[in-house]
Amino acid sequence: MSSRTGAPLLTVTDLHKSFGANQVLRGIDFTIHEGEVLALIGPSGSGKTTALRCLNGLEIANQGTIAFAGGPSVKFDPKTTKKSASVLRDRSAMVFQGHHLFPHLTVLQNVSIGPLEVQRRPKAEVMEQAATLLDRVGLSEKASAFPSSLSGGQQQRVGIVRALMQKPDLLLFDEPTSALDPELVGEVLSVIKELASEGWSMLLVTHELAFARDVADTVVFMDGGYVVEHGPAAQVLRSPSNPRTQSFVQRLLNPF
Ligand code: ADP
Ligand code: MG
Repeated sequence: MSSRTGAPLLTVTDLHKSFGANQVLRGIDFTIHEGEVLALIGPSGSGKTTALRCLNGLEIANQGTIAFAGGPSVKFDPKTTKKSASVLRDRSAMVFQGHHLFPHLTVLQNVSIGPLEVQRRPKAEVMEQAATLLDRVGLSEKASAFPSSLSGGQQQRVGIVRALMQKPDLLLFDEPTSALDPELVGEVLSVIKELASEGWSMLLVTHELAFARDVADTVVFMDGGYVVEHGPAAQVLRSPSNPRTQSFVQRLLNPF
């Protein structure tokens, strides 16, 4: 963790999640601090997306606690409902692997529909925020365009704006560049890097280890339903202490 990170923001304790007999999360613990960029890495199928979806209240964990400093805090048990977990979305916003934009809505409508209809914020304020954020990611001219007319990188930048519109305290990214053509990856990563340097707290699931080494303060390596290693990014990515982390990092950095 670098010196720019502050007080604990989100604490995950003993998080369990199964799908039928498939125990995906077997007791996950970690804390994210204010201003921290935490990269979550691990093999395909290790439960990274599931963990993120639990943090955002999209999936209901079976056991454990997800607690934001100052609330909300959800303690999961068999009676926890989607509705009671949805309070977690008061503090976090998710950027999905694919952009998940509504095809029948314009860019501006896509990014403003949540703030207007879910958060019920005043229209003038929402429009002004949308204009500012679209400008920041270089998409002002695309406000009236439909998603299908945008490149994958532009669509993903709209997805980032949509998340920022919610004014979250924590941004959750689920492999935001993995569905993109290689030449479009850079434009999305550079937006994320800019947000990191502005002090946004974020949890970033990624296979881009070079990028993680560049922007992340801390790295969590998950495998087999557990957090296998958690430490400063430079240490976990350059000289991991666990053999499973070592072989995963080696494979990703030297695939051939
Ligand atoms: P990762 O993001 O690390 O690749 P996932 O969280 O997507 O891993 O998946 C972890 C495991 O959970 C996989 O075995 C996957 O098949 C299973 N899984 C994920 N979502 C569901 C679901 N909605 N229903 C049943 N099984 C699921
Ligand atoms: Mg995934």
